[in-house]
Amino acid sequence: MYSLRIQLFTAIIIAAVGGVISLYLFLTSQLLGVSIFILSLLVSFGILYLFVYRPLKKIQEVIYGQQDKMAPQRLMVDSSDELQELSDSFNAMLDGFRTDIVQMKKLERVRSEFLGNVSHELRTPIFSTQGLIETLLHGAVDDEKVNREFLHRALQNIERLNTLLTELIDISRIESGEMKLRFRFFDAVSFLQSAVGDMQTAAEQKNISLKLIGDQSTPVDIYGDKERLRQVVVNLIDNALKYSDPDLSGEVKVKFENKKDRIEISVEDTGIGIAPQHLPRIFERFYRVDKDRSRDVGGTGLGLAIVKHIVEAHNSSITVESQIGVGTKFTFAVMKNSVA
Ligand code: ADP
Repeated sequence: MYSLRIQLFTAIIIAAVGGVISLYLFLTSQLLGVSIFILSLLVSFGILYLFVYRPLKKIQEVIYGQQDKMAPQRLMVDSSDELQELSDSFNAMLDGFRTDIVQMKKLERVRSEFLGNVSHELRTPIFSTQGLIETLLHGAVDDEKVNREFLHRALQNIERLNTLLTELIDISRIESGEMKLRFRFFDAVSFLQSAVGDMQTAAEQKNISLKLIGDQSTPVDIYGDKERLRQVVVNLIDNALKYSDPDLSGEVKVKFENKKDRIEISVEDTGIGIAPQHLPRIFERFYRVDKDRSRDVGGTGLGLAIVKHIVEAHNSSITVESQIGVGTKFTFAVMKNSVA
């Protein structure tokens, strides 16, 4: 890998030795001295031209000739010296740029898709509220059969907007890294009892039984952000209630299992279930199996994306199993130790 140095050294030696010989010969026979001098210069320049100037020129041409950023021209230097090393580094840099550009384009697409979704989601309740208020103003306000119902629907739309904005703020804070988690030790048993207890009224209203299952006799310390994990559990229970049929008096079970290094928590329902082709996508932002049903039950399509982010920020992952018409089960774990 030092051949470039050897080539330069050879050229200098030939020039120097040639110079000394020609000086000596010049003193005895002028013609021979001049000829040897010219010959040694030619040989040195030849070496420099062939092994140094020409490959450098080629590299320069390729660098200046880069037109297409997506399909950059790679350097093809066929030697085993420092120029080869230079061209390899250049090619590696090109590959890096190409990956960055592809990534940037992907991010740009995701960003504009997200903006499109956000505007669409905001527009729906705003237009609907606008329509309801206009209808009321055009006379429906005096019609006792519909006026309260219209006002009630307008209020529901405003509540939807409120939930959507809160979840949008949450997801953007999580994704930008602005949301800092506050990790500490706390008791998983009382934590789950409280989260399940808070959802009891909502479950009763839907005629669904909500139970906490697991050994509640002894406290078990887990390590995490209590508020965010509460958001996860409440969100999963809320979904389980939302996607269960109130007429079928279903069941939602929050189970926890004490494992060696973690607590495994699952939320299981006897609801409508999710078809297998949708399962890999339900954690994506705004992905909904049935858009109308989700909207009817006040869904935004952001809940599971937030849940996934929070669980992953706890060095864990969330899984889902489901069967249409039978029910759905989400499972995740929280570590007992701060060194996950
Ligand atoms: P949404 O606000 O629409 O509920 P989520 O992100 O919470 O959004 O969930 C995404 C989609 O996954 C829902 O629209 C629904 O189709 C499906 N889903 C989530 N939880 C359940 C569940 N327990 N049972 C059936 N489908 C569910």
